[in-house]
Amino acid sequence: MRDLPPRAGHTFPGREMPLMDREPDGSARPHTPGTPTFMRPIGRNLLGSEPELLRRCQLSSTSSLESPLSPSRPRSPWRFDPYDSIEDQDREYVGFATLPNQVHRKSVKKGFAFTLMVAGESGLGKSTLINSLFLTDLYKDRKMLNAEERITQTVEIIKHTIGIEEKGVKLKLTIVDTPGFGDAVNNTESWRPIVDFVEQQFEQYFRDESGLNRKNIQDNRVHCCLYFISPYGHGLRPIDVEFMKALHEKVNIVPVLAKADCLTPAELSLKKIKIREEIERFGIHIYQFPDCDSDEDEEFKLQDQELKESIPFAVVGSNILVESKGRRFRGRTYPWGVVEVENPAHSDFLKLRNMLVRTHMQDLKDVTRETHYENYRAQCIQKMTRMVVKERKRSLCSHLRESVTDLPLVPVDSETERLIWEKDEELRRMHEVLERIQEQMRHGH
Ligand code: GDP
Repeated sequence: MRDLPPRAGHTFPGREMPLMDREPDGSARPHTPGTPTFMRPIGRNLLGSEPELLRRCQLSSTSSLESPLSPSRPRSPWRFDPYDSIEDQDREYVGFATLPNQVHRKSVKKGFAFTLMVAGESGLGKSTLINSLFLTDLYKDRKMLNAEERITQTVEIIKHTIGIEEKGVKLKLTIVDTPGFGDAVNNTESWRPIVDFVEQQFEQYFRDESGLNRKNIQDNRVHCCLYFISPYGHGLRPIDVEFMKALHEKVNIVPVLAKADCLTPAELSLKKIKIREEIERFGIHIYQFPDCDSDEDEEFKLQDQELKESIPFAVVGSNILVESKGRRFRGRTYPWGVVEVENPAHSDFLKLRNMLVRTHMQDLKDVTRETHYENYRAQCIQKMTRMVVKERKRSLCSHLRESVTDLPLVPVDSETERLIWEKDEELRRMHEVLERIQEQMRHGH
């Protein structure tokens, strides 16, 4: 299968006017395309007056009138030189079409990192598929649990990290395995440890980002979760719905239909339709492939449409290299024939691998950073703000309570004073009446 073409068309049209560089003596010299601009001698008649020229020379310490370029074109430091064509030789360019190359060089030097999670009940072929996808044997030390152990075990999270290098590009791949998910008799909330793990990675990143050593942050956020759906059921099981709903706002979920070689093409297509309908009906938000730009070519649009319609990817994995008709390939041999893992007629394995590695790895990382992590971060900041406000209110109240006991008596206003005086007068009069009655009683009246 052909790779999807790069999404954004990085075209950097040059100026149409064929201009010439000027030598210090004023003579013309063909411009050397691909040369970084700061190396280019600055011509008088192109740049204006001498003081202006001097000022510009001072601004750019690397430009020098004294060091004109060697007549032979300097070798480009880039593998792909956008100015390396015959027709570009006599045109003048500023040189910024090399910007993508600069980004490329920096990224290649730094290397790439990607974290992929796999989830689904045991025995669905998760480890086999990971080995097939990345041509490794990540699971050679795996300890298989027996049925009893599996029933009682809680969901474990195991991380495997490998460094792979292809054509000088390094990829640090971390596989997060979730053995035990869906294996117990009671699977209520068995997704909880997985959600906790995903959030812990966000939390760690949030702490690191707010800390001192922001330069060397290790990004362990989970960029994608391959969720394995059994080929034997009638669509999604309740545990599949629960899992995906618990995680869909935190990680990019890519559903895969496991062991696709167990289904005929007709069964496969019906099952895919049913699963897609159920995903929609239950309001599960799986990873959405970005929409094609309208100016994209037809072939690209078609491939993009095909990719979207392949969900859930029907996959086949194998740890075995089969030899057949003079070819060696990963496959599964059956009495009736051989299933080739990488054959597009047999499964969506290649589509999945191309999507994960060749075409959408960066988008998966972008969505993780811009959507899932941003949501987490916003919630975190909201919670922290609420806590701070609550704490402030609490301390303000206790401060007020303390200060009230220290306060002098509050002065009473004139109305209150009048009321108090009236009551006092009333009491005094009643007292007088009472005294008079007592006096009369004493004198025998
Ligand atoms: P995990 O427990 O999900 O990691 O599953 P494994 O990768 O250990 O595979 C469990 C069993 O399924 C093994 O016997 C594999 O050989 C077999 N298996 C793996 N992938 C496939 C597949 O694509 N099709 C079929 N039919 N069997 C597979």
